[in-house]
Formats: sequence, C-alpha cells, structure tokens
Amino acid sequence: MKLEREEIEFLLKDDENLHERAHYCKGNNVGFVTYLRGLIELSNECVKNCYYCGIRKDNVNVNRYTLDDDDIIEAALFAHNNGYGSIALQAGERINSDYTKRITSLVSRIKDMSGGELGITLSLGEQTKETLNEWRKAGADRYLLRIETSNRELYSKLHPNNRLHSFDTRVDVLKTLRDEGYQVGTGIMIGLPWQTEDHLIDDLIFMRDMDIDMCGMGPYLEHTDTPLYEQRGVLITEKERFDLTLRMVSTLRLMMPNINIAATTALQAIDAVGREKALWAGANVIMPNITPNSTRASYKLYENKPISEDCLDIQEKSLFERIENAGDTIGFKQQGNSLHYKNKNNGK
Ligand code: SAH
Ligand code: SF4
Repeated sequence: MKLEREEIEFLLKDDENLHERAHYCKGNNVGFVTYLRGLIELSNECVKNCYYCGIRKDNVNVNRYTLDDDDIIEAALFAHNNGYGSIALQAGERINSDYTKRITSLVSRIKDMSGGELGITLSLGEQTKETLNEWRKAGADRYLLRIETSNRELYSKLHPNNRLHSFDTRVDVLKTLRDEGYQVGTGIMIGLPWQTEDHLIDDLIFMRDMDIDMCGMGPYLEHTDTPLYEQRGVLITEKERFDLTLRMVSTLRLMMPNINIAATTALQAIDAVGREKALWAGANVIMPNITPNSTRASYKLYENKPISEDCLDIQEKSLFERIENAGDTIGFKQQGNSLHYKNKNNGK
C-alpha cells in the first residue's frame, strides 16, 4: 500500500507507536535477522570537496593512506572466516584507469577466494557507466551512493558549485547502477544545517520513487576542518539528530517493508548502543568495521567517530550479544541480499 504524503508526515512527526510498528513490520517482511557486512575503508584519498566531510580533498590535516592489496584481501579473508556473509569496500572518490583496474582485480580476487560466498558491496563514489559495468562483471553485487539530500537547493549549499559535485550527475549514477544490475543503495544525512522536516519527507518519497533496494542514513556530525562547521550554531542537538534518524529508519521500513536498511556507524558516535536501537526500530544490516587498525583513525568523515575495534574477538562477541538482545538472530554466512531486489528480479 502506497502511503500518502500526509500519512508519511504523521508517521515521522507524530505516531507514538512508530518504532513498535516498524519493529513488527521488519519481522513480518525481512525477519528478525541482522545481516553483517564487514566494512573495509580502503583509502581516504578523495578528489572531491564536499563541505561536510572530514576527508575532503582540501583538508590538509589528514594523513592520506591507501591500503595495500594484501591488507584488503586479509581483511576480506577475516570476514569470510568469521561468518560474515558480505563485505563493503568504501573509500573517497577517485577516477582514473589504474584505480579502476585495481578495484576490478580486488573484487574478482575476493569473490574467487571466498568461492563466490562473500557478497560484495562497493561505496566508491560517482563512477562512469563503463567502470560500474566492469566492477559488476568482476563480482560486485551492490553499490551504495547516498543522495545526501534529495533537495537540489540544499544539495548546492553542501557542495561546491562545479561539475564534480553535480546533483544531476548523482541522480544519473543512481539510475546507471540500476541499469547495470546492482542492488542499489542510497541514503541521506539527517540534521544538516538548513534541513527541514519537509526535506526529510521529500527524501523518503525520493527513495521510494527511485525504488531503491537498500538504504543507509545517519545523523550529520560536524567536523572542525570543514566549511560546514561554520554553520554549527544552527544545528539541532545531537540527541535530536539521533531521535530523528531513528524515526526516519522506522518510517522508511513501513514505506518499503522489504528493503535492507543499515544501522549506521554515525548513530554509534552519539549513543554507544545507537546501532542496536536502530535494529530494533526497523534496520536489518550492520557494518562492523574490519579495516586494519593502523589506518582507522585516519578515515574520519566526522569527529567523534567511534574508533571501535569491532573486529577484535571479544568486542565482536559483545556486539553480537547486543544484537541478539535487540531481538535478532545474526545472519552468519548469509549474504543477506535485498529481498526487494530479489522480488523485482523474479526471485533471482
Ligand atoms: N566517497 C564516497 C564514500 C565515502 S563517504 C561517497 O561520498 O559516496 C560516505 C558517506 O559518509 C557519505 O555519503 C556521507 O553521507 C557520509 N558523511 C560524510 N561526512 C559526514 C559527516 N560530517 N557526518 C555524517 N556523515 C558524513
Ligand atoms: Fe569525498 Fe565522499 Fe567525503 Fe565527499 S563524502 S569528500 S566524495 S569521501
């Protein structure tokens, strides 16, 4: 049933039973299961200058790194050996043919090494149709590219005004991803300067209209070394951003019952068990960070990023226990592909 705008507005702003409804909606549609994606932050080099992001090109206070192939393969092996059904490779944006080829070879090595068992998600920014086609053929299953905000005017206040940061290109790449057969994920930041509840309702409708398969949304967290930091005086509190994110997760679950929704790391930066709260409220994917420890501190999109050591055995156990306490079983060894995508593609 397609919800009207007024109904979406009611859910987001006023429904006192929102989280409970979303909780059961999740159970009925995708099950009380949390799927794991081991997150590997493979490089913080970036050609772009998004005003909100700590690793933007012009921030000179960043130690730039790129992981070696061996480190990436080792992290992927760790994931496979520890029952993770999928990994996600994320990095700043880079566009050149050597880089493209390197990712192609990494993706196919990881796929082969796991006997095809590991699902692979990429989050490597805007790329050409040819590149996306090459990576898909090499074995990438899914792609995450947040629209950040679906409001063109707000988008232009958050990015430099040039071809590299075009709203239209972003939307076009999302469409190309669909054409290339990826499970497509997008998402937004919540609590941005100038952002209103109307914008957020539009964002939810945008995601529905784009018929996305996955979503990752999180609170905006300011970073000192970014131009947007100047606007910190107009922000809602972190607690408000957190609560609003949880309400967005629950509302989206009710609007798109069979998509995958991530409980994002930025929630954990505000509340130590923020991700588990999101899982209870409708999310069904978590992305424990399995990046080698030596470079974790340098991949700082925002401040207070939890330098959690999700991958260390003991910590991982407590994360898994907390997920189970939130009422879910953990989808060990399952890729956890988007049911929405499967249904669209006749169960494949
Ligand atoms: N370069 C790629 C992937 C890395 S950035 C890309 O931009 O798609 C991944 C996400 O981090 C972005 O989509 C953005 O939503 C989020 N992010 C960046 N800076 C942030 C901040 N200050 N607060 C919260 N999220 C942020
Ligand atoms: Fe680069 Fe992504 Fe950060 Fe923008 S959000 S500056 S593309 S890493």
